[in-house]
Amino acid sequence: MRYIFTLLLFCASASLLAQDTYLQCGKLVDTKNGKILTEKTVVISGNKIFKIQDGYVDGKKGDTTIDLKNKTVMPGLIDMHIHIESETNPKAYLKRYTDNEADLAFDAVGYAEKTLMAGFTTVRDLGGSGVNISLKKAIAQGKIVGPRVFTAGKILSTTGGHGDPTNGGKRSLIGDPGPKDGVVNSVEDARKAVRQRYKNGADLIKITATGGVLSVAKSGSNPQFTVEEIKAICETAKDYGFHVAAHAHGDEGMQRAILGGVKTIEHGTLMSEKTMDLMKQHDAYLVPTITAGKEVTDKAKIDGYYPAIIVPKALNIGPKIQNTFKKAYDRGVGIAFGTDAGVFKHGQNGKEFGYMVEAGMPAIAAIQSATITNAKILEMQEKLGQVSPGFIADIVAVNDNPTQKIDTMENIVFVMKEGKIYKQ
Ligand SMILES: [Zn+2]
Repeated sequence: MRYIFTLLLFCASASLLAQDTYLQCGKLVDTKNGKILTEKTVVISGNKIFKIQDGYVDGKKGDTTIDLKNKTVMPGLIDMHIHIESETNPKAYLKRYTDNEADLAFDAVGYAEKTLMAGFTTVRDLGGSGVNISLKKAIAQGKIVGPRVFTAGKILSTTGGHGDPTNGGKRSLIGDPGPKDGVVNSVEDARKAVRQRYKNGADLIKITATGGVLSVAKSGSNPQFTVEEIKAICETAKDYGFHVAAHAHGDEGMQRAILGGVKTIEHGTLMSEKTMDLMKQHDAYLVPTITAGKEVTDKAKIDGYYPAIIVPKALNIGPKIQNTFKKAYDRGVGIAFGTDAGVFKHGQNGKEFGYMVEAGMPAIAAIQSATITNAKILEMQEKLGQVSPGFIADIVAVNDNPTQKIDTMENIVFVMKEGKIYKQ
């Protein structure tokens, strides 16, 4: 008992001695209860939120007090679908054969910084070359500036599938990639590929359950895995504490992915009502990526931007994503905020909020999906997604009230990650 008392006294005095940061917030989004609170002071001690006080409280001598009285403050945002090491470019398909990993890495440093400055303090990276894993480590070690990264490393695909890294390449250059490179064609391959991702340092698994828009291949929606292969992936992933994200545009591939045990369906473009109900039954979430849908549609109209085989796919699939999101949301499917940044320019992730609200989701619900919902999927719900005592001090602010002006989410004016201020 006496020990506990001394410990409490020690903790209390330690927080008094340390330099704290006091954020005086005109409005504060309470993501847990879906409300906007007014006139609160958030006290940050080290990398954690220490307490929240009513009214505007000044710090003591040595503390930092920051005036956010005319801002709306909220938890750091989480984007569940980005590609941190690449960005749309008309030469992207050539760059695959000309750029080395070091070239990708230098580009990625800039993308990571832009993402953090846009208010996204945590991201789920859904696939790249493996540079993403090194980038995640460099950010975590404080060598470069960027969001906290949970990465899939290299995507898993089938031969010729959406994530086959050699699609469209000259045969004498490309070889026949296997599970080590993320290409699987059997249950055995599937297990090996997941274990390889673990060995490489990934945090989760991404599969391409159907064809996709931007691969050099004919179909944008055909199923590309058997249920057995997906089951083998999901079961093996579980052994390593990984969840599985499935890229899917076509309905059949989506159903197989959900039955196989994936946690999130990315895009979900041609999703039927039957599949929406299946998602609810299996507690799977839709990651809408509406921004990517809009952007690929626009780019496909620029002559020569994409290879010719991609254009009809982009024009067919791109414009449908927002409407599917609306239907799924109205039907009660769980929505996990995600944009597919990289398919469009990094740092514009906040546009997605406007598209979600345009489709009928209330602004607060869209912010909840980018905070508490995503934190839960990442199993970080005790640490991320709320401005509450004990949570990691990831905090951002915008100029206006997002319930009245949603495009304020595209202009983040204050960024704190783990108690450190990156933008003010
Ligand atoms: Zn993607």
